[in-house]
Amino acid sequence: MSRVKVGDEVVVISGKDRGKRGKIIKKLPREDRIMVEGVNVVKRHVRPTRRGQASGIVEGEALIHASKVMLICSRCGKRARMGIKTLKKEGRLRFCKKCGEVID
Ligand SMILES: [Zn+2]
Repeated sequence: MSRVKVGDEVVVISGKDRGKRGKIIKKLPREDRIMVEGVNVVKRHVRPTRRGQASGIVEGEALIHASKVMLICSRCGKRARMGIKTLKKEGRLRFCKKCGEVID
């Protein structure tokens, strides 16, 4: 199971975009696939859907596998190994194993 979610700041750890940082802008619920701002940008050919609209090539992010990214801790600013702890009130929370900061 993936521990990242939309809005998380992550860094890419493998592939052509290795080292890039960005925010998760989309996540497919059942697959571990995510879309990260500025990462895995591909060119797509588009056809006009309305009259007058230009066809051409647009650039946009494509999905990547969630295992290719690591969360960046907002406190220590480093790629962080996440732990999960369960609290009575808040339920399951993610925290940074380095500095203990709760992410959620
Ligand atoms: Zn941290």
